[in-house]
Amino acid sequence: MAEIELRGVTKRWGAFVGVKDLDLTISDREFLVLLGPSGCGKTTTMRMIAGLEDASSGDILIGGKRVNNLDPKDRDIAMVFQSYALYPNLSVYENIRFPLKVRRIPASEHDARVRRAAAMVELEDFLERKPAALSGGQRQRVALARAIVRQPSVFLMDEPLSNLDAKLRVSTRAQIKNLSHELQVTTIYVTHDQVEAMTLADRVVVMKGGVVQQIGAPTDIYDRPANTFVAGFIGNPAMNLLNGTLRGGVFEGENVTITGLRTPDGPVTLGFRAEDATLAPEGEIVAPAYTTELLGDATMVTVRAGGALVAVKAHKEVRVEIGELVSMRVPAAICHLFDAKTGDRLA
Ligand code: ATP
Repeated sequence: MAEIELRGVTKRWGAFVGVKDLDLTISDREFLVLLGPSGCGKTTTMRMIAGLEDASSGDILIGGKRVNNLDPKDRDIAMVFQSYALYPNLSVYENIRFPLKVRRIPASEHDARVRRAAAMVELEDFLERKPAALSGGQRQRVALARAIVRQPSVFLMDEPLSNLDAKLRVSTRAQIKNLSHELQVTTIYVTHDQVEAMTLADRVVVMKGGVVQQIGAPTDIYDRPANTFVAGFIGNPAMNLLNGTLRGGVFEGENVTITGLRTPDGPVTLGFRAEDATLAPEGEIVAPAYTTELLGDATMVTVRAGGALVAVKAHKEVRVEIGELVSMRVPAAICHLFDAKTGDRLA
């Protein structure tokens, strides 16, 4: 059992709070992603779980046991970092084998375990090479194999794809997902990339300024963001967020009037996703096109409304000139409402 529990975990450096009062239970075999912008506290959270950083207060439990005072090496955790930290003078084979030697695993088991781990990340043909003779993606796979070979009860991965180019990121991401399905090991994965979070996670923890903003399955977070920060962070493009005023169920703002909404009167932030809206006559938003982009599978049309640039994903054959008047259908049913001041979800 490798359930991980954080109870009121806080990290302070002097007056600065890096992680604030974090409560989180990660189930055995769950793939949990910590997501947020640079400096939000995700690496610090992971380092506290690993034991590389002490918590200032709160408890960290692994498998029901408090580990606050346990050395990193005694926590049965394997880590994969963005910098692969391979030994340049050792072959791929010896790099993968290294943790087995350190942990005094009987030598008779080494060869089978190294070869099995290498096979899982498709490195069988590279075992004799030195890291310098590998591509970035291959090096990252050596780092993965080195984590796998130990058969730990927890994997911690800190931005393992961020040094790879766009194409390799996608294929290595798929490989990590496949591996995690095969290995069934509790995994905590840190990233600032919402696509990685959405594609890999069983659950996502969205953080900002050391504080958890929302915890949920990727679809929960996408379909019901808890506040404007999460709404603006998740999705490509992120949710459109317009400012305006609600009166008697009618939202009014620059170039926009939406009827049939149900929340108290007052200033609000209204959100909707580009793919939920359509271009059609008699729309709720009418404005000149600010820009249009051909994406191949769709045409993105952007206008200015509610004090923001607002995008709609139109049919791929739609052609709109910049400056041409556009009509967007944004029915109340696709709208999310947030408190204008706090940004918290209203409905
Ligand atoms: P990134 O994606 O840039 O790595 P992050 O979300 O992982 O960001 P952390 O590395 O957890 O962020 O850092 C959280 C905050 O704590 C940051 O503001 C950082 O400057 C601060 N911090 C981290 N380590 C220390 C330290 N040793 N002393 C003081 N402040 C620190």
